Amino acid sequence: MTNPQDFSTRAIHSGQSFDPTTGAVIRPIYQTSTYVQDGIGGLRNGFEYSRSGNPTRSSLEVQIASLEGAEHGLSFASGLAAEDTLLRAVLKPGDHVVMGNDVYGGTHRLVSRVFVPWGVTIDTVEMADLDAVRAAMRPDTKVLWVETPSNPLLKISDIAALAEIGRAGGAIVVVDNTFASPYLQNPLALGADVVVHSTTKYLGGHSDVLGGALALNDDALADKLGFLQFATGPVSGPMDAWLTIRGIKTLAVRMERHSSNAQAIAEALVAHPSIEHVYYPGLPDHPGHELAASQMRGFGGMLSVAVRGGEAAARKFAESTKIFQLAESLGGVESLIGYPSEMTHFSVRGTELEVPENVVRLSVGIEGINDLLGDIDAALATS
Ligand SMILES: *Cc1c(COP(=O)(O)O)cnc(C)c1O
Repeated sequence: MTNPQDFSTRAIHSGQSFDPTTGAVIRPIYQTSTYVQDGIGGLRNGFEYSRSGNPTRSSLEVQIASLEGAEHGLSFASGLAAEDTLLRAVLKPGDHVVMGNDVYGGTHRLVSRVFVPWGVTIDTVEMADLDAVRAAMRPDTKVLWVETPSNPLLKISDIAALAEIGRAGGAIVVVDNTFASPYLQNPLALGADVVVHSTTKYLGGHSDVLGGALALNDDALADKLGFLQFATGPVSGPMDAWLTIRGIKTLAVRMERHSSNAQAIAEALVAHPSIEHVYYPGLPDHPGHELAASQMRGFGGMLSVAVRGGEAAARKFAESTKIFQLAESLGGVESLIGYPSEMTHFSVRGTELEVPENVVRLSVGIEGINDLLGDIDAALATS
C-alpha cells in the first residue's frame, strides 16, 4: 500500500497487509521461537530466531513508526525496557542526564537507581521553564528527557524549544509521548530525536498487555538499538505485539472520546466545591493551554485534581468511585482513578518529584460521560 496520509488509515493499514498464504485479513500471530532454514544460513526473509526478529513484532514496529512519522520503530516488552535499552545505547559512565521534575516515577527510578550507580549523573528541572533547562545543561549532558503532558500534574513543555536547547548542547532529546499518544502529538516533527512510548497505555488501550516502543529517524542509533534488542533480549512477545497492533487500530476514535470526556469532566470539576484545583491542559487558564493547543491535536484523557480537605479527603475520593476503578496505570477504555503519592509516585516520595498529598489522578475512559460525571459527584459527596 502506498503511504496513506490520514492517521486513522495508517493506524489500520501500516504494516498490516493481509496474509499472503491464506488471504486472512488479519496477519497471524507468529507464535514461534525459531524458523526453519533452507540449508545452513538459508533464512526466509531474514528470520532466524524470535529474539532477533519475529513477523508479528515487525508488523507492530512498522505501524508504530508510521504513526510517529519515523524511519524506525522498535517494540519492547515494556515501556521501561524500551527506556533502559535507549539509555544504554546513548549513555556511558560519567555522562549527565537532564530530566523533567515530574516525569513518570519509574523513569526517575530507572535513572537514579540503575544508571546513577553505574556512574551517570542526573539533574531534574522544571521543563516548562526553558531558562532553568538551559542552566541545567552541562558539557557532559548527553540526554535531555522530556515528558509532556507530564504525570501526574499535566504540565506542558515546549518540545520544539527544548529540542533546540538539547541539540545546541549536544544532547539527544527524548520525548516520552505516552500521555498524548501519537494521535495527539508527534515529537519528531517538532525536532525531538527519539520518542518513547509505554504501549501499555493508550496504544494498547485495553489494559490487557504490557509493552513499550521507540520511534526515531537516526539510522546509526536505530542499528545500535536493534543490536541491543538482540543482544539483551527485552523484546515484546508475538501475542503481546498482536494485541498492541489490534489496540492501535482504534487509537484515533478512542483518543477523540478520551479527550472529550476528560474535557467535560475538567469543566465540571472546576466549579465543584470539593475541588481546589483541576490540572487539565484543555482548560483555558491552564498555564500550558496555548502551547498544548499549538503542539497537540487535542488535550487527552488524563487529568488530576487537588481535593479540598487535604490527604484524607483525597484518599476518600479515590476509594469511593465505582466506575472509576482504583488502580495503577492509565490509557485503557475503562476509567481508572489513582492516588499518585502512594501509588504511581511512591518511589519518588521525599524527592523533588514528590506529588502533593491531596492530588488524585483520573484516567478518563471512553464510557458514557453522564455515568462518569455521576460517579465522580457521588464519590465527592462522601469525601
Ligand atoms: C507507564 C509509563 C511508563 C513505563 O511503561 P511500562 O510499560 O509500565 O514499563 C513510562 N512512561 C510513562 C509516561 C508511563 O505512563
